[in-house]
Amino acid sequence: MLKIGCHISSGKGFLAMGKAAQSISANTFQFFTRNPRGGAAKALDLADVEAMNAYCAEHKIGNLLAHAPYTLNACAKDAGLREFARNTMADDLSRLEYIPDCMYNFHPGSHVQQGAEVGIAYIADTLNQVLQPEQSTTVLLETMAGKGSEVGRSFEELRSILDKVELKEKMGVCLDTCHVFDGGYDIVSNLEGVLEEFDQIIGLERLKAVHLNDSMNPLGSHKDRHQKIGQGNIGLEAFTAIINHPRLRNLPFYLETPNEMDGYAAEIALLRGLYR
Ligand code: FE
Ligand code: FE
Ligand code: ZN
Repeated sequence: MLKIGCHISSGKGFLAMGKAAQSISANTFQFFTRNPRGGAAKALDLADVEAMNAYCAEHKIGNLLAHAPYTLNACAKDAGLREFARNTMADDLSRLEYIPDCMYNFHPGSHVQQGAEVGIAYIADTLNQVLQPEQSTTVLLETMAGKGSEVGRSFEELRSILDKVELKEKMGVCLDTCHVFDGGYDIVSNLEGVLEEFDQIIGLERLKAVHLNDSMNPLGSHKDRHQKIGQGNIGLEAFTAIINHPRLRNLPFYLETPNEMDGYAAEIALLRGLYR
């Protein structure tokens, strides 16, 4: 069975997210841990979390993916901003312990003229401070499009971060199809080659999740503008190959396409129909 869902708004709480996923026949979903632009999280409503956990178990919804606010910058030049990223991530991780079988995805950061090497060192430093030996949540680095000074634009940069992390067993990677395509990895005409390269540099065993997004822009554009599935430069044929690939087909897939819930429901149905 294809594990597929989409990004769901956390505005109405945890149980509401589970019900929203069920309403579009998703068996997984992604959500922001707090306002995506950052800021304080509401006090955790444990009863609501437990209600969601029970609902998801009952409806076979799993592999929940929490997404850190995208304004966090673990490799900011400013020490205060790095501290904010570290505290937010630590707080998110402590909350996520209440959700079984959960993963936490974050954008590595932007080095802003410090150079990728400095950025990579700061990101690893942050991870070494927030990861705990007893945590059950796996933390994922997202592959980035390489917009501006984003770190994580290449498999080599992600590997360099992972190399510096002490609790490696807590770490994985989330591959975003729009981002890698915009980053110059040709998943349309050379999916096999790209996965081979991922395997050589990072190791496919580290790949834990896939963000399924088409791209408004051409290969190597470094833009990061998501498009609906089949309506961009990646195209439906490539998505069919991706969800059915023997090395990918059992991973959870999350749509972050420009859609409302009815659009997500249609994309989930479309992709289920293409799954062999
Ligand atoms: Fe993301
Ligand atoms: Fe993404
Ligand atoms: Zn994106």
